[in-house]
Amino acid sequence: MCNGPTVKKIDPLPGKHSNTNVPKAIGAARQYELTGKPADQTIAQFFWDRMVHHHSYVIGGNSNYEYCGEPDKLNDRLSDNTCETCNTYNMLKLTRHLFGWQPSAAYMDYYERALYNHILASQHPESGMMTYFVPLRMGTRKEFSDSFNTFTCCVGSGIENHAKYAEQLYSYDGSNTLYVNLFVPSVLQWKAQAAVIEQRTAFPYSNSTALHFKVQQPKQLRIKLRKPFWLKGQPQLLLNGKPVTAEMGNDGYLIVQRVWKNGDKLSMALPMDLYTEAMPDNANRVAIKYGPLVLAGNLGNTRPDPVVGVPVLMTANRNVHDWLKPVPGLPLQFAMQKIGQPFDVTLQPFFATYKGYYSVYLGLFYTTRLGETPAGICCGKATTASH
Ligand SMILES: [Zn+2]
Repeated sequence: MCNGPTVKKIDPLPGKHSNTNVPKAIGAARQYELTGKPADQTIAQFFWDRMVHHHSYVIGGNSNYEYCGEPDKLNDRLSDNTCETCNTYNMLKLTRHLFGWQPSAAYMDYYERALYNHILASQHPESGMMTYFVPLRMGTRKEFSDSFNTFTCCVGSGIENHAKYAEQLYSYDGSNTLYVNLFVPSVLQWKAQAAVIEQRTAFPYSNSTALHFKVQQPKQLRIKLRKPFWLKGQPQLLLNGKPVTAEMGNDGYLIVQRVWKNGDKLSMALPMDLYTEAMPDNANRVAIKYGPLVLAGNLGNTRPDPVVGVPVLMTANRNVHDWLKPVPGLPLQFAMQKIGQPFDVTLQPFFATYKGYYSVYLGLFYTTRLGETPAGICCGKATTASH
């Protein structure tokens, strides 16, 4: 890749086999770490930017039939063979290298997106079996490996995937700064500082996390908590139950620096909100998200009727709160309110969708009376049902 287009900042991916190229970028990253050659750094960083921001679907995965297409053109590339799982396994590795050079919440926002919505979504939670592709065709379902008769590359990397959830939860700068990257229950044995930090949370089933400090002697430590891009409202931190202000770093992390005593507790509210994320090349094909989670419309266990098709959203109102309501007693599930055509469905986290048919992307249609212009659409007029 050194003498190729990537070092000249020309997107190398259109028409290329995705997962042949991600490991090359990881190789360039490692080479940069060993030699300091700026060209290798450029390759790794530029490649990451192109893949994440121009070739990835909402779940953080990439490729259709293992290949990348034109940048920002994903609308017509939804099939049963999207998002090879190895690609994301490797993109997480590349992200870790880049974060190590220059820690930034933006890298961990991608990491969290891909971890919850592709990697966690790629394993059958009962059998432990794994996916090769994660299909995003509207009205599809996941196909999992079996114990003896399938062994794709994604089973090989997949066996690693599900043993690696603890890998990037925390980082530290070699001194007394700790980055809290992800909100996962865990115990950090920080040997260099003779400190133990336990993170207690049920996130995303709860909307807060708390760090419990165990130190033998009071310790001056700089704790940096990632402010996720999806956080609803202003950050709210409590130190031993009392509000504490944190400095906002230009790396996107909230900083709490103090002398920590044994038994101290730092908690952070993590309120989430519903919102839509559209295809880059079609504003009227959207995925619905809640915080970092991609939601999938649950279509049941029967293959959707090809004549009826999968439900679409029939509205000009893009305010998702008006037509999606939490299902009482079922956390992270939301029911459509008279907006789906031909019928409403319930949405649930994509990672928890493994038995039936589903749709991650939904078509947004709107109806108007003759002469009316629907809100938020500048040029829609005199139509009855326009896409
Ligand atoms: Zn694979």
